[in-house]
Amino acid sequence: MFKGILITKDDGVYQAQLQDIDDAVLPEADTTVQVEWSTLNYKDGLALTGKSPVVRRFPMVPGIDFAGTVTETSNAAWKVGDRVVLNGWGVGETHCGGLAEKARVKGEWLVPLPASFSARQAMAIGTAGYTAMLCVLALEKHGIKPADGEVLVTGANGGVGSVAIALLAKLGYQVAASTGRPGEAEHLKSLGASTIIDRSELSAPGKPIGKERWAGVIDTVGSHTLANACATTKYRGAVAACGLAGGMDFPATVAPFILRGVTLYGIDSVMAPLAIRQEAWERLGRDLEIAKLDAITREIPLSEAVAVGTELLEGKVRGRVVVDVSR
Ligand code: NDP
Repeated sequence: MFKGILITKDDGVYQAQLQDIDDAVLPEADTTVQVEWSTLNYKDGLALTGKSPVVRRFPMVPGIDFAGTVTETSNAAWKVGDRVVLNGWGVGETHCGGLAEKARVKGEWLVPLPASFSARQAMAIGTAGYTAMLCVLALEKHGIKPADGEVLVTGANGGVGSVAIALLAKLGYQVAASTGRPGEAEHLKSLGASTIIDRSELSAPGKPIGKERWAGVIDTVGSHTLANACATTKYRGAVAACGLAGGMDFPATVAPFILRGVTLYGIDSVMAPLAIRQEAWERLGRDLEIAKLDAITREIPLSEAVAVGTELLEGKVRGRVVVDVSR
């Protein structure tokens, strides 16, 4: 038995509860990990509350990421005692995940815990931070340089947004942070934002094309915000779209793409190939200031995960939440 959150759906009743879980609940896989830290991402909030059909198999241990130590493996890539991180691959959705003391997964889903991070720090980054890095990499590979102008980050106080601001600032970019919480302006500036934009400027229906403002965009919000961001991106600029905190629709026109040569990159962290994961984690080790990571991290015990998952979906959580699975 091990301690963890278990999501059940018996007679149509969706429930997420901290409990002692039988090892038999864990799926067959070649590698068992003693989880030390997990996190709460937006998708975990959806899974814990049942607000969206993220969980597709029951009973399910939620948690789309974790960091810990290999305790059993028949995979040649790993040995007992190796320190590892996992993000995505459907873990916490179709395969039992990280909000528990134990996980059993495919060895090829794991990456080594970067030497520059503790397991707690790796989870303070978590899937949100690793996705922020994937977005930054997309803009860099497009050729956007700090001298090209401001980069817009939407959903600035969220996990992806906060890490994206810290990374972009460290790399020398001017960052405009769009937020629905203007009271957090000083915090966002301390992370590296130079301009604060009220979320409402971007969230209403806008024109197909507008004044050129952004060299690049990292969008976590979707819907009109993404459409307006594309419409105001500079000639041959790029937008990295990774989220839907404001909606899954994309009420846009092709104007920014065919008149301004704007490129829209789709960012997916879940099934990203190993090479890009390793590149992202290596770059996080180099480009994320630990003091800024600490400033956006809140620690909770596993026993509070369900309640904080609800807060997260209500937009009340700032930055990242790490979960100590031993408490
Ligand atoms: P968080 O909940 O931490 O942050 C989301 C932020 O978006 C909030 O803090 C808030 O920022 C803003 N926001 C919330 N609701 C709205 C709204 N209705 N309209 C506009 N803005 C809103 O989530 P994460 O940072 O973990 O994730 C952000 C998005 O990215 C989610 O949609 C998530 O599913 C997605 N994601 C996608 C991944 C992928 O692989 N593509 C991986 C990880 C995340 P503020 O208060 O500053 O406005």
